[in-house]
Amino acid sequence: MELAEILPIGSALGEAARRLLSGDVVAIPTETVYGLAADATNGEAVARIFETKGRPRFNPLITHVATIAMAERIALFDPLSRKLADAFWPGPLTLVLPLRKEAGIHPLVTAGLETIALRMPVGFMPDLIAEIGRPLAAPSANSSGRISGTTAEAVERDLGSRIGLIVDGGPTPVGLESTIVKVGVEVGGVGVRLLRPGGTPAEAIEAVACVRLERGAKSGVEAPGMLLSHYAPKAAVRLDAGDVRAGETLLAFGPERVEGAEKARACLNLSPTGDLREAAANLFTYMHRLDAAGAATMAVEPIPRSGLGEAINDRLKRAAAPRDTPSRDMPLSRS
Ligand code: AMP
Ligand code: MG
Repeated sequence: MELAEILPIGSALGEAARRLLSGDVVAIPTETVYGLAADATNGEAVARIFETKGRPRFNPLITHVATIAMAERIALFDPLSRKLADAFWPGPLTLVLPLRKEAGIHPLVTAGLETIALRMPVGFMPDLIAEIGRPLAAPSANSSGRISGTTAEAVERDLGSRIGLIVDGGPTPVGLESTIVKVGVEVGGVGVRLLRPGGTPAEAIEAVACVRLERGAKSGVEAPGMLLSHYAPKAAVRLDAGDVRAGETLLAFGPERVEGAEKARACLNLSPTGDLREAAANLFTYMHRLDAAGAATMAVEPIPRSGLGEAINDRLKRAAAPRDTPSRDMPLSRS
């Protein structure tokens, strides 16, 4: 495949906007590290992020906004979160906030969660977001397991054969990821939990919030920047089902149905043509919708393990794990 085109920030706005609006991914500089960005309202575009990085898991992504007004349309701000946004945005601070359901953010961005991680970055990215009028989901622009790209050249070496456009803004000034915090009402008042240390020092946040940051694990399985609770369907999940049993719903994949599919209480097909990108984009929505049918068990047809299939199967395995073991809260790898 051809190598990515590299355009300097001064002449990249139009081309980057065009590609993002057509559902493509684009590598974009921010003040922290280069991000691999996609339209956060377009599920197949977001699926391309995971595909391009070779990420084996659907961990939730940070969504980037151009203004506080745009952030307020996406999430609900408590007074302390708003105070932190006013003090640190634009800048390397990410806030985890309750998601507004009508915000239009695709569920693959939040991994089906009711919260969203939001940040307003410095530099070219807010101009681009304002240009397209859509928020951008973006993890670091590197393949899974590699270190984050901080120059356009590093991004090109790693992802250049897999993406169409890299916007070159020179070396990123901060060079490490954003700090992630979550404001919460805890016993005895309002607290701020540090989910991942990063470019905004904890002391600076403490000085504005007038509280000490809570650190470390809330339970035995939480780790910095890693996610505690994932969306879990109410129904039990039966993976690699070869048939459908009485009373079950069916999460189907591909053109052929398993035995007894016509008996399913409800059936949704992740991708009738067997396209893993389409399946990834539909996964969280369809799990929610089948769960609404109220069945005790959801049967899931076998889904190939290649490419995006690895992350799809990982997510389904977590959904299928017994409810009271820590396995569904397995720490998520960072990439
Ligand atoms: P990255 O986009 O690769 O910089 O990673 C995003 C980080 O944000 C990961 O460590 C996620 O676990 C974390 N994150 C994203 N959304 C949420 C959320 N709703 N709740 C808690 N952590 C989150
Ligand atoms: Mg990363």
